[in-house]
Amino acid sequence: MSQQEIWFVTGSQHLYGEETLRQVAVNSRKIVEALNNAAKISLKIVCMETVTTSDEIFEVCKAANNEDKCIGIITWMHTFSPSKMWINGLKILTKPILHLHTQANRDIPWETMNMDFMNLNQAAHGDREHGFIYTRMGIGRKVVVGYYEDTIVQEKIGRWARVALAAATAKELKVVRFGDNMREVAVTEGDKVEAQIKFGWSINSYGVGDLVARINEVTDEQINSLMEEYEQKYNFAPECDKGTELYEHVREQAKMEIALEQFLTEGKFQAFTNTFEDLYGMKQLPGLATQRLMEKGFGYGGEGDWKTAALTRTMKIIADNKATSFMEDYTYHFNPENKMVLGAHMLEVCPTIANEKPRIEVHPLGIGGKEAPARLVFDGKAGEAVCASLIDMGGRMRLIIAQVEAVEVPHKLPQLPVARTTWKLKPSLEIGAQAWILAGGAHHTVFSHEVTVEDLVDWAEIMDIEYVIINESTDILRLKQDLRTNELIWKLR
Ligand code: MN
Repeated sequence: MSQQEIWFVTGSQHLYGEETLRQVAVNSRKIVEALNNAAKISLKIVCMETVTTSDEIFEVCKAANNEDKCIGIITWMHTFSPSKMWINGLKILTKPILHLHTQANRDIPWETMNMDFMNLNQAAHGDREHGFIYTRMGIGRKVVVGYYEDTIVQEKIGRWARVALAAATAKELKVVRFGDNMREVAVTEGDKVEAQIKFGWSINSYGVGDLVARINEVTDEQINSLMEEYEQKYNFAPECDKGTELYEHVREQAKMEIALEQFLTEGKFQAFTNTFEDLYGMKQLPGLATQRLMEKGFGYGGEGDWKTAALTRTMKIIADNKATSFMEDYTYHFNPENKMVLGAHMLEVCPTIANEKPRIEVHPLGIGGKEAPARLVFDGKAGEAVCASLIDMGGRMRLIIAQVEAVEVPHKLPQLPVARTTWKLKPSLEIGAQAWILAGGAHHTVFSHEVTVEDLVDWAEIMDIEYVIINESTDILRLKQDLRTNELIWKLR
């Protein structure tokens, strides 16, 4: 990531003379310096030469396409830059665009302002000319408005840069599918060819036997050293603490974690999926092992769900691997005082969303017919969050994004042996869930406290896929109409 960069391209023209252009260049460098010093922006921004002609614009767009390190460009019209000059360049540009609508000056210098100042600082209309050509050409881009030193402007740029990073790395995203989909399940299926064409994701299956062979090669020394890490990072429940019989079950998960990580790293895979229906030769369903790999930043989806595995990885990149997990809507609390969703999975919830030090526990699993697997158990934390689901509509992908409010798990759950988190849907459980079901959203989601609805909209627009938002302003009749209109729009494209 340290090698990736965003190019900052300032547009102008030769109408105002060399002195003005010199000042434009100075101001552009000053803005880029401020953005690079901003705490909210983690990617490097590189100031390019001011572009003033059709040829220069074409050249910088061509160079951006060819430079792997460049994952997006920011454009800003300090003065007026006639947009017909931009057409040839924008026609070939393949990188995501952020149009920054800012000014070198924050305030109008009331006392000293003259026509020279007016000619130098024309973004208010120069950027309108610039915006028109994107719209006229049908080019998607993010528009950020405001003074470049404002924290909120810098945060928006920083967030977009991480989305651009996730988009740039999509073509390198390789997903391992151990075994096939869970039998008879529809929503986790999908067109892997379409996914590769649309996102660049490469999804391929491997026999679980290939993994079992790796598991059998793991040494006791490797397991011992990983167990030391477990002991530092997590609490052990008494039933599986050192010296107990079930401690061996925890060691088995350590063994699987080592083998899985080796398999993924060697194959340059960043996400995986497996299924409890295909564990031939394995002693347990990977629980703790999968949670640990998600904690390290790998994507995961259960029961063969490669779309959610890839989306988990994508959202972990946007989130810098903070507070983002594979999730499943499990059960509801319909109490009128306090309606909420309880989310969990059979085992695999990422500890990055934990509200407490996770505890290793061992319990039998009702399905799969294997020995009792070790898993991390914890409550999720409270706060703003999103649930996102990617579904295959047949011919197109749809991303469903719900804005939710995670709440502290309101009760102890002494009999529930899995990690869980609770949240409230917007605008209400009834409307939120109704909208989700009408939109076809899956039971599997990616749940994140870090990624926002706006991030996911930006990502969907860069990827050119359909998206549906469920939030405080969701109205069911309007949503139904939108879904019908979307059918038509996406068929016409
Ligand atoms: Mn599931």
